[in-house]
Amino acid sequence: MVMTDRYGHRERPEGTAMMTNPITSADTAARGLSAAQAARRLAESGPNVVTAPPRLGIARRVGRQLADPLVALLMAAGLVTAALGDVPDTVIILMVVVVNTVIGVAQEVRADAAIAALDRLAAPSARVIRDGRDQVVPAAELVHGDHVRLEAGDVVPADLELTEAQRATFDESALTGESVPVLRGRSEPAGAGTVLAAGRAAGTVVATGPASALGRISDLVSRTRPGPTPLQRRITALGRVLGVTAVVVSSLVFAAGVLAGQPVVRMAITAVSLVVAAVPESLPAVVTLALALGARRMARTRAIPRRLHAVETLGSVTVIAADKTGTLTENRMTVQYAITADGSRHAISGTGYDPTGDVDGRGGEPLRTLARAGALCNDAALLPPDAGHPDWAAAGDPMEAALLAFAGRCGLDVDAERAAAVRVAEHPFDQDSRRMVTVHRLPSGGYLVACKGAPEAVLDPRTDAGLLDAAAELAADGLRVLAVATAACGQRPDPAAPPPLTVAGIVGIGDPLRATARDTAEAFTRSGVRLVLITGDHPHTASAIGRRLGILGPGDVVAHGDQDDLRGTDVAHARVFARTQPEQKLDIISALQQRGEVVAMTGDGVNDAPALRRADIGVAMGGGTEVARQAADLVLFDDNLGTVADAIGEGRRIYDNIRRFLRYGLSGGAAELLVMLAGPLLGMPLALLPAQLLWINLLTHGVPGVALGAEPAEADVMHRPPRSPQESVLGAGLLRGVLTGAGLLAAVTMAAGVVAQQTGRPWQSVMFLVLGIAQLGVALAVRAKAAPGAERNVLLPISVGVCLLLQLAGVLTEPLRLLLGTEPLDASTIAACCAVAALPGVALRLWNRKASGV
Ligand code: ADP
Ligand code: MG
Repeated sequence: MVMTDRYGHRERPEGTAMMTNPITSADTAARGLSAAQAARRLAESGPNVVTAPPRLGIARRVGRQLADPLVALLMAAGLVTAALGDVPDTVIILMVVVVNTVIGVAQEVRADAAIAALDRLAAPSARVIRDGRDQVVPAAELVHGDHVRLEAGDVVPADLELTEAQRATFDESALTGESVPVLRGRSEPAGAGTVLAAGRAAGTVVATGPASALGRISDLVSRTRPGPTPLQRRITALGRVLGVTAVVVSSLVFAAGVLAGQPVVRMAITAVSLVVAAVPESLPAVVTLALALGARRMARTRAIPRRLHAVETLGSVTVIAADKTGTLTENRMTVQYAITADGSRHAISGTGYDPTGDVDGRGGEPLRTLARAGALCNDAALLPPDAGHPDWAAAGDPMEAALLAFAGRCGLDVDAERAAAVRVAEHPFDQDSRRMVTVHRLPSGGYLVACKGAPEAVLDPRTDAGLLDAAAELAADGLRVLAVATAACGQRPDPAAPPPLTVAGIVGIGDPLRATARDTAEAFTRSGVRLVLITGDHPHTASAIGRRLGILGPGDVVAHGDQDDLRGTDVAHARVFARTQPEQKLDIISALQQRGEVVAMTGDGVNDAPALRRADIGVAMGGGTEVARQAADLVLFDDNLGTVADAIGEGRRIYDNIRRFLRYGLSGGAAELLVMLAGPLLGMPLALLPAQLLWINLLTHGVPGVALGAEPAEADVMHRPPRSPQESVLGAGLLRGVLTGAGLLAAVTMAAGVVAQQTGRPWQSVMFLVLGIAQLGVALAVRAKAAPGAERNVLLPISVGVCLLLQLAGVLTEPLRLLLGTEPLDASTIAACCAVAALPGVALRLWNRKASGV
């Protein structure tokens, strides 16, 4: 039976794993805990988490809403009206406080639920043996006595006592600050939070959660909730500016009213209501909810943002630096050509990892020698088809699996070869040496050295010039080239310093581009995001792929990690980086960031973690290492770069919607201030009563405002360049848009008021009706121009419709008239009010046809 873990990796069936994984034989002896035992212990000891994030109760949340200065001010005003026996104003003030608090708390709870769901999706997992089987469980469910397996790149999920260690080096910097990895062996401890940097290990859990090493120092490490995002901080600052502006203007209104002989208390209440009405108090909640719901939508496309901050930064990404292998290619490798030491060239047929196929040119012994060495110097395994998987599959490195399939096609029985030449020592592949060496004991008593690696790392330019030329030719076809060499010796050799090797040949390995790769590259180009390829492959291979993707034109630069200094700003123009080491990703990021770019960078290995942290958006692959996932801002569970393009579109949509809300909310608030300021000049000492201001505020800022956060993406969202990272929230014409909107709203309101006054109609009620309805019209006007067929945001028209009815009810129904101090209007006046109120919205919509609304 083959199981698939949550990253889509197939686990090896116990039997086949033994052949390649020397730890397993000992492991299978241990049956681990039973599920029932584990559940019991979990109930006793609690989850394996260092500190559970503080859960906010409803009371605390309500308290936080009421502590808002605006709300406090309004409640103070409410006390005054109550003391004066002014029932209608007191009721309206209470309603505003209650509705605001309900909307605020509800949005917070929804946002928190969305974030908690993300936390669960991106939560670390652990490989344990329970009931004698390998299982993947959430790390939070580990208990004392669990038997945990670690592979390079895993974060140690709890305090362990190691039971197995194969050249296991741990990076303990999270606990000790010491960055030099420590080699640990059997019976030694491995602390929670450290990272298995290389090798393999297994161990028994001795302490979890707060009792673990990480738990004990967690007071030292700050593990509080992540702070506000840059956008949230900017919005808070903007809110303060708006508050001060509203207070200043309201004071003017207050002074003007008192000078004109209005009662002081009444003017004070009016001023407070005006401040409350003019400031869109739901702004922070709208931003948080928009970000959180956006994060949830991204998660549905298998791109999980690990922090809210990622959602907004994604919208401003200007460069995406991506690993070639896996994200743009399928990481499904096949050997296509083999060239043996004697120069004879063989085309290999066969698909996928199926070890049957054909060799053109009738191999013979030189080809078999090449294939045998490639299969021995190899950690992968091939999984035969089974009920759940119709095709042969690779376990381990896909490139090594390709060599196994190739060996099969050359007529070798890999299991028999491996059994005959038992591996006794090895020097694993690393990106410095770019080669791997293994030592095998032969039945004859002698030893065989097998080596494979990059041609420059294996071949000698003096003696192997012909093969090096052939390698360059294969690479120019976009193939990854490996050279293979062997040596026979009587004494057991040291794999780190092997004896002189004899070249067996080279193989050209193809990794098809994903079917969507070209579209993905085009999507990035269209949206002004520069796609940059990073690979450890040969420059020829890399540029062939770059050309196939359409990102590498004739004049474009291919940087060479072994030769160029990648820190310079001149490499910031390169489209392809070949022969790079993972550490060089940091240099590439700094060169790009120096130029003011907002950089998204992909990675999945242990060595990628620093670059993922440094990038503005670190993108980890779901199938990669745990350290990479924990260092990243976005985890891609389908490993497809196209999903990042979607996430960028989602980030842009959310930012657009926040600007939509600002445009709508601020123009309405500013219009209220303008009307109240201009009223006394036109012989309307109190243009609107406090209750009327608060009612309009209640209807406009409440649900329709929140609904704007759910608008779909503009049709052109991925056809325009990213916004400048320096741009302010009100930048790029938004401030002008707000002022235009406010001017139009105030103008129609005042005009309607003046006409009503001249014709002897209840001018205040007319202005109340026009200002409220006109604002709802603006909400419709700033709607997104979505692509035809895109999902519509029905919440917006519905909430606008309901609010329109409530606004009309404010003059039509007796109880509301009492509450709001309005007067009845006849049908023709109401119709005229509606017609006039529609003008600003229609004008803005028409005007937006030219200039983008957000
Ligand atoms: P990438 O980041 O594109 O996957 P790597 O850094 O993993 O590139 O590999 C760089 C080069 O090292 C490859 O082109 C290949 O020549 C060689 N190489 C990769 N993996 C192995 C391996 N397991 N054994 C030997 N050589 C390898
Ligand atoms: Mg690789």
